Amino acid sequence: MKEGIRATMAFCACGLLGACCAPLVLAQEHAAHVHGEARLDVAQEGNTLSLQLESPLDNLLGFEHAPKNAAEEAQAKRMSETLRAADRLFAPTPAADCALESVTLESSALTPELLGETEHEHEHAKEHGDAHEGEEGHADLDALWQFRCARPEALRAVEIRMFDSFPGLRALKVQTATPGGQRGATLTPEKRTLTW
Ligand SMILES: [Zn+2]
Repeated sequence: MKEGIRATMAFCACGLLGACCAPLVLAQEHAAHVHGEARLDVAQEGNTLSLQLESPLDNLLGFEHAPKNAAEEAQAKRMSETLRAADRLFAPTPAADCALESVTLESSALTPELLGETEHEHEHAKEHGDAHEGEEGHADLDALWQFRCARPEALRAVEIRMFDSFPGLRALKVQTATPGGQRGATLTPEKRTLTW
């Protein structure tokens, strides 16, 4: 109940228009788009470590529409660059010797160009982008980071440092699937290390 109330408040605060508060039940049921919160799925499979983020764009960018001017465009580009510098966002166990292999970014509010995507992903975004569009003026950002680890057996933890880069992000609902099993956790700026 407490969590429901908090989610409601965050949802209402997101828009200054009263209309934003109408689909409250929807927001609670899906818990998918609450400003300040995001989902992160972490999986270790063999020597690959994958981190998949689904976040309200507001958490990362401060707005959820296509950039309306040069300043907003520059802001979106800066966000993309920060998201692509994954070594500063995630710190896997050093002994596992993990190196970033790929980053994919997608958002219905931002063009693949602003997200720094290549031609191939451009097609992909065009196919899927429309489906997420226009839910009460909100937009998400989906990101996938993949690391390849030279000594995956040493991989025991990931420190999530993205809270430092994105102060708008206050809670991460995490699901992990690793050789150690599956589990859920909530990370915050104060509690930011996942272990397995
Ligand atoms: Zn929103």
